[in-house]
Amino acid sequence: MVESSRTRRASYASSRRTFLKQSALAASAFAWPRAFAATPSWRSGDPFALGVAAGAPTVDGFVLWTRLAPQPISNDPDTPGGVAPASYAVEYTIASDPTLRTVVRTGRAVADPRFAYSVHAEVGGLEPGRSYWYRFTCGDASSRVGRAITLPPPGAAAPLKVGYVSCANYEHGYFGAYRHLADEAPDVAIFLGDYIYEYIDKKRTKVRTHSDGVDATTLPLYRNRYAQYRTDPDLQRLHADVPALVTWDDHEVQNDYASQWSEDFDDPVEFLRRRAAAYQAYYEHMPLRARAVPHGPDMLLYDRFRFGDLAEISLLDGRQYRSREACQRPPSNGGGHLETDASCAELRDATRSMLGAAQEAWLHDGLAHSSARWNVIAQDVLMAQLREHDRNNEVAYWTDDWNGYPAARTRLLTHLRDARVANPVVLSGDIHSFWTNDLKVDFDNPAAPIIATEFIGTSISAHPPPYELFVKFLPDNPHVKFFESRKRGYVTLDITPDRVTTRFRAIADATDPHTEVSTLKSFVVENGRPGAIEA
Ligand code: CA
Ligand code: FE
Repeated sequence: MVESSRTRRASYASSRRTFLKQSALAASAFAWPRAFAATPSWRSGDPFALGVAAGAPTVDGFVLWTRLAPQPISNDPDTPGGVAPASYAVEYTIASDPTLRTVVRTGRAVADPRFAYSVHAEVGGLEPGRSYWYRFTCGDASSRVGRAITLPPPGAAAPLKVGYVSCANYEHGYFGAYRHLADEAPDVAIFLGDYIYEYIDKKRTKVRTHSDGVDATTLPLYRNRYAQYRTDPDLQRLHADVPALVTWDDHEVQNDYASQWSEDFDDPVEFLRRRAAAYQAYYEHMPLRARAVPHGPDMLLYDRFRFGDLAEISLLDGRQYRSREACQRPPSNGGGHLETDASCAELRDATRSMLGAAQEAWLHDGLAHSSARWNVIAQDVLMAQLREHDRNNEVAYWTDDWNGYPAARTRLLTHLRDARVANPVVLSGDIHSFWTNDLKVDFDNPAAPIIATEFIGTSISAHPPPYELFVKFLPDNPHVKFFESRKRGYVTLDITPDRVTTRFRAIADATDPHTEVSTLKSFVVENGRPGAIEA
């Protein structure tokens, strides 16, 4: 979501076999170099200036990430991060304690020159359901220590603490919200998108400015953008201390894009080139498995994480496969905009998809077969119906969130009901505000049963939509139990077999790097009873 006129612009590859084949190809495509640069001495700067991260946990392992970048912002595309072309080996040490006294594993990974000297070390063979600590070394340099987790084994039901975040605009504010989430030491942090902002804000006063002074559109520019964000001390600390589950929204590529369709009506062939650059830079900076290695403009990001018998998290990709924005037309309706049922018959077209056929089938299948007590669907944009008003005061719907894909939403909610999916909870971002919503198959019938509960987290720092405007819509949307756009922050979930407790954590001032945090509101969902209760 970017601010516009209304301040709001705000297959599995067809089979598992193909999917495995692709992963194997991706992993084998890179030949282990014959010789590494002689133990490098890093006089030009700390090669671990972008920090470390862990993610993609399984019951016996995880991915450890770093990227060699002694000069994070680089003007020379041939030396990303200021690293001279060569092969670099990075050693890692994994221990069962935070001081690295009890080492359980050492290994060596390649800083891959095809991917800006990033490291994605896939580690397995460890114990389930616990924390490990790790550090990288390269030549005479060592990284800070980070924490990783393995997933609990089937049968386990230990309490789980999750934090989730979205919409961190570097120009709009500091990342104090990230620091406060790190202080809470959740088991995992879920990034729901708008991790970077690709554009330069020309309208507002800023607390700091994006490098390069232009919108990110090419691989070197996207790399610099991620590198700049990763030099932020609060984001570095969150990644070091808390393992990450990551998905994207629009600003990792371009505001309000939908698959190959740009909000600026770019030629789709051209736009897919830009998407390929953006996806590659995303892969280079995230703790992702080889399954996610991008192939041109395609990248497999959606994934599922099972925390024993307690919770399963389905992490969705809401951008790569979606149908074009409903009634997308020049000059100004390229991205999110309001449409009414009268103005846009396409809006309710049953063939429109938010997830694409393969991801939708994968999601529905996974949910139907899940034996977890809680089924968490973590994804980018507002899912609940939201009846807004257009300029003529007609009821209208925003085309960029699930309100632009109502048939797909109905399919998902009908499936949750008919497959009797246990305790579905939806986590969303994008709209720079806190929301608690009842999700129903029929939002227009107040007596219709609640199928699931949606909790939307506000932005880390990005500017909000206008509070007064949205408050006016609330009487027309009785399934909205809470709305607040005037605060920045994040959300935590404490999950136990009996209940999920959600805390909306609000920082006092995103323009203050030392800002404080407090709980704005707290909700509980009891096992077997969809719908949030104010705590
Ligand atoms: Ca967004
Ligand atoms: Fe955003």
